[in-house]
Amino acid sequence: MSIVDVHNHLGGWSPDAGQTLEELLSKASELNLHGVAISDHYDADADCYPNGDPWVFDAKEYMDAFYDLRRLPSRRQPDDPPGFLISVELGWTEAVTDELRALLRDNPFDYGILSVHYLDRCDPFYDKQAIYRESLADTYTRVINVVADSAKAVPEARIIGHYDFFSRYATENRSKMFYRQAPDAFDRLFRIMHENGQILEINAGTIDSLMRNKGYSLKDALPDKDVLRRYRELGGHFLAFASDAHYNTQFGRLMRPTLAYAASLGFRDWAWFEAGELRFTRLQTV
Ligand SMILES: [Zn+2]
Ligand SMILES: [Zn+2]
Repeated sequence: MSIVDVHNHLGGWSPDAGQTLEELLSKASELNLHGVAISDHYDADADCYPNGDPWVFDAKEYMDAFYDLRRLPSRRQPDDPPGFLISVELGWTEAVTDELRALLRDNPFDYGILSVHYLDRCDPFYDKQAIYRESLADTYTRVINVVADSAKAVPEARIIGHYDFFSRYATENRSKMFYRQAPDAFDRLFRIMHENGQILEINAGTIDSLMRNKGYSLKDALPDKDVLRRYRELGGHFLAFASDAHYNTQFGRLMRPTLAYAASLGFRDWAWFEAGELRFTRLQTV
């Protein structure tokens, strides 16, 4: 598969991950990917962690550990191993906007992925009652508006991660996120993204979670076609694929059916960034 998997975590750098770089790279070679990126958590808002430390790492140490191993997918020759890029998953709240922008400015990350993991500083996994207190449509409207706020606040971040993260933890079993639940918020998000040149990520972790924890079939767990259609209508041309693997068994999960599904909706160009520059491969067949 000639794509770059843009979003993965390593043990020792992300508190919820348990794979080594060697495991990640060897799995990427096995799947013959064009490239793979690491993107460990940078969730800096201490108020989201009342009982512990925020999930951040030292960017200088990260670069010392990995920068020399970087291999640009765009320079890859046919027999080369997959490319290797260095990204970061930026957990956004308004309070850490300046810190996240400085992190991207001061360190040579290939790109930042913006993620919203908290709503009103509540964690959707632990504080379900605080978050899922209205209808799903109302909750998702709030969530997508916060995702839009994040895209606007950190225009340098190139990828918008798992827009559908909050659908994983809702108390309802049929919790998939649909465009029709938050049309104005999605339109606002996609307009901001278009203006900033930001790319939508398809996160296999959400698809996997809906199947495992909510009983969805693969077909029903794939992202809502109307979300993707509207993204396209408002100027979104590229998608980015994310395993969001925290463990090696998750790497490359659901990649093929996800790419095939996106192709059926007209998306064949899969993007990544090298030192902030957009690159992509066009899939002829899936
Ligand atoms: Zn995330
Ligand atoms: Zn992640």
